[in-house]
Amino acid sequence: MKKIVSGMRPTGKLHLGHYLGVIKNWLKLQDEHDCYFFVADWHALTNKYKNTEDLKENIKQMIIDWLACGIDPKKATLFVQSGVKQHSELALLFSMITPKSWLELNPSYKDLKFNLFYQYLRDFLLGKQVKINQAPPPESFDEALEKATGKQKNKIFEEYLREAFHRAFYNQKGINFEYLKEVLIKFGINKKIVEEAIDNLEKGDVGKDIDTLGFLAYPVLQAADILIYKAEGVPVGEDQLPHIELTREIARRFNNLYDEIFPEPEAILTEAAKLPGIDGRKMSKSYNNAIYLSDSEEEVNKKTMQMKTDPQRIRRTDPGNPDVCIVYDYHKIFTKDENLLKDIDQKCRTAEIGCTDCKKILAENLNKFLEPIRDKRKEIEKDYEKYEKFFIEGTLRCREIAESNMKEVRKAMRLYEI
Ligand code: SF4
Repeated sequence: MKKIVSGMRPTGKLHLGHYLGVIKNWLKLQDEHDCYFFVADWHALTNKYKNTEDLKENIKQMIIDWLACGIDPKKATLFVQSGVKQHSELALLFSMITPKSWLELNPSYKDLKFNLFYQYLRDFLLGKQVKINQAPPPESFDEALEKATGKQKNKIFEEYLREAFHRAFYNQKGINFEYLKEVLIKFGINKKIVEEAIDNLEKGDVGKDIDTLGFLAYPVLQAADILIYKAEGVPVGEDQLPHIELTREIARRFNNLYDEIFPEPEAILTEAAKLPGIDGRKMSKSYNNAIYLSDSEEEVNKKTMQMKTDPQRIRRTDPGNPDVCIVYDYHKIFTKDENLLKDIDQKCRTAEIGCTDCKKILAENLNKFLEPIRDKRKEIEKDYEKYEKFFIEGTLRCREIAESNMKEVRKAMRLYEI
């Protein structure tokens, strides 16, 4: 049995992506290990420091979702990060021994910046009526770039735009805006529009909200969140591995400098089924494409009917391809009957089933899955204080553990104690 620590930023009600990516795994871990699951409310401030009016409500909704899904205070210790101030003390001490370069190289910091910049550029171009075709490009970016003459082309495939931006962003010398300008003009976008967009990116406010010390240093706070409990394992997806590596490096550095206090926690890799939002993009509150655990039956039905399907299947009589259909991605997870699943696959390919009927089956299965969660949610909402208590008790327990470990840290660092 390992000591496991894992947290989630309170962004409000949870959606199916959260369930599959985190909660499902926690449910398994709480049966096998000594788990500490926390509401990472300080982390919510790293890029949302301006809008704190929803923070308390977001925490409440997340707590309700956790419990409704079966996260069990009898099996795991549940707590709220900001209730254990020792996390911030340890983060401060860690920040003294963490080289700045470790943070600047943190890939998720760069990726987030990339996404913000890219999103801005895309929205700007769309706002100027530039045609961005969402269909996949028929040829490679390099071939298309070679053929692009500017005069003939008046639309740019989204994939190309992303590729161009990627090449401009991820290179040795910072963002190569000149390259990006050249490519966009080559693809036929009006020079004036391109220049305005790039100018805004270079000088504007894009990304300003993450240009803070708190955002840059959040992996240090994360290291403190984990190490303050001397955790041995942290469940993570592939993309978060660099964070755990950083936590291990901080632990190593501390142990070398002062005393062997911290274990180097292992990353427990979780294989989560990736589920896109109803429009095919990453499921996210900000894209307005998510199915929430708290959605009513009607909302689920409506959202399922809005789901994108195989783009090549235009008429009911056209055969479809489930391999490129979001609805079928959902079926693979929520339609438990293997025979039915095979049947849908085959009938889609032969046009024996229409997309509306296919979606109706999915909506039914989604509702079957969500119904017990919805019911439990209602029960918890009615008597929230009774359930909130689990988190208060957990937080108090964590405070004691954290304080006891901090005493060791202060002593090892020979700090002045009153
Ligand atoms: S029948 Fe179902 S799987 Fe096939 S394209 Fe339509 S929604 Fe997708």
